[in-house]
Amino acid sequence: MNKILSHLLMLTFVASMNLGCDREVKPTETEPNNDYMLYATLFHQQAAENIALSYQAFNIAKLMLNNSLRNAALTKKLAVVVDVDETVLDNSPYEARCIIENVNYPMYWKEWCEQASATPIAGSVDFLKYAESVGVEVFYITNRKEKYRAVTISNLNKYNFPFVDNDHLMMRTSESNKEPRRELVEKDHHIVLLIGDNLGDMLYGFDVSNNKSRIEMVDSLKSEFGSRFIMLPNAMYGLWANNLVGDNNDISKAEKIRLLKSGLTSF
Ligand SMILES: [Mg+2]
Repeated sequence: MNKILSHLLMLTFVASMNLGCDREVKPTETEPNNDYMLYATLFHQQAAENIALSYQAFNIAKLMLNNSLRNAALTKKLAVVVDVDETVLDNSPYEARCIIENVNYPMYWKEWCEQASATPIAGSVDFLKYAESVGVEVFYITNRKEKYRAVTISNLNKYNFPFVDNDHLMMRTSESNKEPRRELVEKDHHIVLLIGDNLGDMLYGFDVSNNKSRIEMVDSLKSEFGSRFIMLPNAMYGLWANNLVGDNNDISKAEKIRLLKSGLTSF
């Protein structure tokens, strides 16, 4: 009896083992999420180094502005041109929401802009108020669409940015090229500083779809940086990233990550 029972128990055990094998779930390829944006966004929100870089940019801007004020050859009014997003306003909470909810631009961009709650980039308000105090005009040239003009004005006013009015806030036109808008400012002003997080905020010539060419252009203009061109860091997005993945929102995340990895230089 005991032998039969133990035999039955053995059969049951073996059967359950087989059943276990059948049930084993092999890991499947799952669609990646937006976690690839974590480090870049956290750099903007958590790294004191990022804040230091912003202060550094605006401290250098002040030194250069003071130099321009001593330049007697500049006969027209002086102007400083700044970009808005990631230059004077911090949109990292928008990027954070995209990560948390696994969505991408343009989802929620309208809601974020209409909230008008982006906080100033460190050092930006003080520097621009300083410019105003020494008689230098500030122009905001942004590629935010015209429909966001009122909410952008409201956001900038919330933090007491100077020169926040329709004449000094130049929204995106039919094109993203900022050169025509800079030319409008240059009619009556010397633009002594261009401040931005994207090279296109300095010169349209940088807006090319090849990162190697952009790097070569920066090399060829190296003396302009920290002089007339003041760069702010933006690790979250930019033409540099579009150039790697293309401007196509329809590609899968897996493909996007594959393209991003293809941009790596290893050893
Ligand atoms: Mg920008």
